[in-house]
Amino acid sequence: MLLEVKNLSVDFKVGRQTLRAVNNVSFSLGERDSLGLVGESGCGKSTTAFALMRLLASNGSISEGQILLNGVDLAAASYDEIRKVRWKDISIIFQNAMTALNPVQKIGDQIINALREHEDVSKKEAIERAEYLFERVGIAKSRLMQYPHEFSGGMKQRAVIALALICSPKILIADEPTTALDVVAQRQVIELLAGLQDEFNISIVMISHDISAVAEACRSIAVMYGGEIMEQGRSKDVLIQNNHPYTHALVGSFPSLHKPLSTLAQIPGGAPNLADMPAGCPFSPRCAYAAELCGREKPDSRRVRLNKLCKCHYAEELDFNKKGG
Ligand code: SF4
Repeated sequence: MLLEVKNLSVDFKVGRQTLRAVNNVSFSLGERDSLGLVGESGCGKSTTAFALMRLLASNGSISEGQILLNGVDLAAASYDEIRKVRWKDISIIFQNAMTALNPVQKIGDQIINALREHEDVSKKEAIERAEYLFERVGIAKSRLMQYPHEFSGGMKQRAVIALALICSPKILIADEPTTALDVVAQRQVIELLAGLQDEFNISIVMISHDISAVAEACRSIAVMYGGEIMEQGRSKDVLIQNNHPYTHALVGSFPSLHKPLSTLAQIPGGAPNLADMPAGCPFSPRCAYAAELCGREKPDSRRVRLNKLCKCHYAEELDFNKKGG
């Protein structure tokens, strides 16, 4: 297995409190594999990604678990070891392209410098590789030496993808890669990432609130809520045959080509407050199926189908597909 995340927990110190933003999360990723981490804002998906890159804010830390990349535990690695791994083995496309690009430096120079910091290549070769990637992500190579402000939002996001790929990483994390884009550009970026995965032999962890977009692009999905994985399995099984009320609500809240817009339903309430989590199931205050047990006992993750894990006391009874729901 290329990447194995085992029982990962991440805490943040906020004043005198320690808040758990990611709780006991486990998943794995093979070669040329793809996994989508989905959920609403504040569910822990971006924090998980930042933990994988060891890029947590200064008040955050990995409190438990392992991040095994080819058997080496990144959670326990030194800063120097992490520096060697970042970009070359595991790279990230940030949510906001402007976070990744320096506004006062030509984009080409940023890409070339990133490559030459990690690989002993001549400037000529670095330029050739950057030009190739530019063209591959759909930007004319003649624009390599322009500044970020000369690019549209969609082009900036493509340039960030080129930057993330310049050192030929084995794993690419795409943190909400389409959030700031219009619908057409969103589709193009998702298709681009899928094409790049084949060409560059990379594995992708795609983070998004849009479960249907992720289901199209990724082999498997992990649905997160309150810092935990609630349902996890092959994309088709999670999207169509979901067993968790939160997954079901999430699927119902996004438009689909196959159902009328009038069927879209909002999930009532908001993301849980990490400082005041429910004693039982984290989703219980918002769950239409919550029973007395849910409020007092936390459900464990268990296998509900051959390829699917679910964390709900009533996962088997709530087979929405079986009920035609
Ligand atoms: Fe809803 Fe209870 Fe399942 Fe939680 S355990 S998702 S509250 S039915």
